[in-house]
Amino acid sequence: MSYCASRFSTVRRPTREVKVGNVGVGGTNPLRLQSMTTSDTQDVAATVKQSIALAEVGCEIVRITAPNVAAAKCLKNIRTQFTAAGFGHVPLVADIHFLPSAAMEAVEHVEKVRVNPGNYADKKKFNVREYTDADYSTELQRLHDAFSPLVIRARQLGRALRIGTNHGSLSDRIMNRYGDTPLGMVESALEFLRIAEANSYKEMILSMKASNPKVMIQAYRLLVQRMAQEDMHYPLHLGVTEAGDGEDGRIKSAIGIGSLLLDGLGDTIRVSLTEDSVYEIPVARAIADKAMSLWAADRPSPSADRLEEGIDSYHFAKRETTTLQFAPGVTVGPEQPPRVVVRAGADLSVTLASLAAGKLKDTPPEIILVAVGPAVQLAQLPDPGESSYALELAPAITPAEFKPFATTLRPGTMLVRDFAGGEGPVLTAFARLAREHQLILAVGLTPEDFSALSSTLRQLGDERLVFSLNVSRTNLAGPAHALGAYRQLAASLRDLGLHAPLWIRNTAASAVHGDNSFLSKLLEASFLTGGLLCDGLGDLLSIETEPDAPRATRLAYNVLQGAGARISKTEFVACPSCGRTLFDLQTTTQRIRAQTGHLKGVKIAIMGCIVNGPGEMADADFGYVGGAPGKINLYVGKNCVQYNIPQADADAKLIALIKEHGKWLDAAPVPA
Ligand code: SF4
Repeated sequence: MSYCASRFSTVRRPTREVKVGNVGVGGTNPLRLQSMTTSDTQDVAATVKQSIALAEVGCEIVRITAPNVAAAKCLKNIRTQFTAAGFGHVPLVADIHFLPSAAMEAVEHVEKVRVNPGNYADKKKFNVREYTDADYSTELQRLHDAFSPLVIRARQLGRALRIGTNHGSLSDRIMNRYGDTPLGMVESALEFLRIAEANSYKEMILSMKASNPKVMIQAYRLLVQRMAQEDMHYPLHLGVTEAGDGEDGRIKSAIGIGSLLLDGLGDTIRVSLTEDSVYEIPVARAIADKAMSLWAADRPSPSADRLEEGIDSYHFAKRETTTLQFAPGVTVGPEQPPRVVVRAGADLSVTLASLAAGKLKDTPPEIILVAVGPAVQLAQLPDPGESSYALELAPAITPAEFKPFATTLRPGTMLVRDFAGGEGPVLTAFARLAREHQLILAVGLTPEDFSALSSTLRQLGDERLVFSLNVSRTNLAGPAHALGAYRQLAASLRDLGLHAPLWIRNTAASAVHGDNSFLSKLLEASFLTGGLLCDGLGDLLSIETEPDAPRATRLAYNVLQGAGARISKTEFVACPSCGRTLFDLQTTTQRIRAQTGHLKGVKIAIMGCIVNGPGEMADADFGYVGGAPGKINLYVGKNCVQYNIPQADADAKLIALIKEHGKWLDAAPVPA
């Protein structure tokens, strides 16, 4: 059973409608946007002020942490004052960790309560022990007894619940049986769903968040598949936790949320950023608009849905490819990270100068894409240095016309051409030319043209070929999208036994919907590229929607880093902050980034509190976690190695710790 109706076009997953106050989630409702306040919940005035600010920018559901009973009691006044300010229509959600007593208080005052199955009345001490079946059932009975009162009260009051599972904060019981895996996350949620259903309660929304988009995507897919097996149809709340700030935070969120939405999954979303919460809403709005533009369309003929992709949607594996040498230092192949292609502007020398001035030492443009019309003199191409050229040939150029130039090109230069279904002989001639002169041919095809050319391609084999989607001729009408078309292309290559690398090209024609803003381009690139990379597809990447070559290059590397496909700088995992936060997360994150942003491949987590921080910083190498007001705990992996350091000393101690573990490099910090 698949997790979605189609991987080639967007068919919204049918769910029951859950009412959060007056706001319907799931069913036929639009995608709902939500965010969270960051003030101390017991500061009622500040929390009401933040709730109003969020509602005014379009937040439809506001979440507020309730770390204890005293804070949960404050929700009563917050609800009253928020309503009095004219926002009675905007539901509030209490965020609960650990304390059933706080949940029981909160459910009296707000429209929804979020519980974390990893720590709701369950142990979280990272204990390693074997649970026998008898131990396990005893624990489940204990959980049943602890969770049922909240379920019963929520049913009586007409409240909704969110079962909000987080990677890295699973209970010891689940961790010992399933590990810190998507399967563990799903089993953890299912236990709570079964308890709720045993109490005749169904007003639930589910989430499966992780800071790693790949893990998050797999967990949501698996959840949907397992729920369908149990005839459960609850709506989904989508989000990537600890995504960080700026471009990186937006990219990570868009990869995780976007690729699920394109598969028709998701009913409400939160984009978590380590920035003021109001900045989350425009990003969420832009993501939601893209997805809803696909939902609105009629379902096309499902012919592509019969394709066998050969992809395990629940476990990551990179597609096997052949190896190709571009410039001496630029290899594409199975052991290689995806390579970055950047499109040159009309004046190649201007592009080369801008790339040279762009301070791209750690993120170099590896292949420069140049449009070649009939009038271009190829002999005059400037030396590309350590990069390689990709020459995009105008359709009017014939193989015979191009042949004299082929001898002048450096081996590893890529010829780029789209082929129509009737151009078998032309394709064969260009492929032979490429092989004779140690060049590479990038073949752009629509899925339909691929079928028409399949016998030519079978004869040619995959030597010195790269494949890409001919987006401008692909029919992306209705709910069809470029992610689905690339998946079709990969499935067609598999059918023919071709292992040629796949080039993901982000162009205006591959976009789902939106304006010409940088945010829209960033989201599109994240949807398409991130979605494919998380399925193990993609060996080259270009973001051709961004005309500024250095900016397009950096964006490509940032998307690769967000998808975990290629690490070119320090990875920061930073929580979005909430009412539990013990220091200023934004300035601290910026300060630590300024000092450590050059440590390529090192993962540093900056978490606001010890209640959730250590669990949710996932697989970070080092952790900087709020231990008490003004005090920081430092972690190496999951182990706390220094407690309660005065905050003024914590940066230096963190750097000393990184040095002690041999991960420090003396180099100029990279600008944020
Ligand atoms: S880790 Fe951050 S967002 Fe999570 S509970 Fe602690 S302070 Fe709040």
